[in-house]
Amino acid sequence: MIILDGKKTSQELKEEIAADVAVLRQQGKKVPHLAAVIVGNDGASLTYVSSKVKACEQVGFQSTLVKLPEDTTEEALLDKVKELNANAEIDGYIVQLPLPRHIDEEKVLLAIDPKKDVDGFHPANFGRMALELESFIPATPYGIMQLLERYDIDTQGKHAIVIGRSHIVGRPISILLSQKGKYANATVTLAHSRTTDLKTLVLQADIVVSALGIPNFVNADMVKPGAVVIDVGITRVSDADAPKGYRIVGDVDFDQVAPKASFITPVPGGVGPMTIAMLLKNTLLARERSEV
Ligand code: NAD
Repeated sequence: MIILDGKKTSQELKEEIAADVAVLRQQGKKVPHLAAVIVGNDGASLTYVSSKVKACEQVGFQSTLVKLPEDTTEEALLDKVKELNANAEIDGYIVQLPLPRHIDEEKVLLAIDPKKDVDGFHPANFGRMALELESFIPATPYGIMQLLERYDIDTQGKHAIVIGRSHIVGRPISILLSQKGKYANATVTLAHSRTTDLKTLVLQADIVVSALGIPNFVNADMVKPGAVVIDVGITRVSDADAPKGYRIVGDVDFDQVAPKASFITPVPGGVGPMTIAMLLKNTLLARERSEV
């Protein structure tokens, strides 16, 4: 069994990105600039956004954190989005989700200029991705594809099952795995909350991508020996012994499943760090594309 080390792989990716930034700097060119907008004070969202901003510093990007109060109106947020669209200094930006209930998320995502949509959530990018055209691929599925590539995992003709059909993970990774390509060409089953007899389906799969957010949902009885197991789940579970009072737990019962798997991602340290690295990669791409 080989652990798919997202921490190490994301570090390598960041070093590659930092080297590209150094070249831009040497050439006297503008370095990539990522902005992140956060509305409100949700603890988990603040943690995610600050780790994204910190990652920008690590690779030599410029970054701007736009912190707006919880009671920001939809109109004010849309004005901020317009401002970021028009600001030539900003190559890409993200609006951290979830937004407060009084703001229509869809309206906000649709207002983002697709050329700056480094999260890849705008329908223009999603559609282009599905059609195998140049786009921004959402960071989490992009990170999973990078892990498969960098560990040279054979996906050709394999049966992959994706559990969870969210627009940001399950649906896009099911599309990417089924596309043409050396680290794709899989036959994909997309499972969700209405799927019947999931265990039988997962047992048939050579590749399991779990993105549902239920701790230890995937156990050893469900996994075929030799399967590749990608755990996207991130759930905070209270733990009085942990320094922060909680632990991060994945969807896969790692201790049980790891001995049966050929490759497996740990949680934490698997898909999570890859997500941040791919956001940086998308920002670098946005910077490069803004030149042509
Ligand atoms: P979501 O929370 O929007 O939806 C969950 C999905 O799971 C739904 O499509 C639902 O149909 C499916 N589901 C629920 N119960 C099911 C069941 N019993 N059987 C089969 N399918 C079932 O999905 P999301 O936003 O993709 O998040 C999923 C998990 O991934 C969460 O834990 C989230 O925190 C995590 N996540 C991690 C990263 C990362 O960087 N590692 C990024 C995004 C999301």
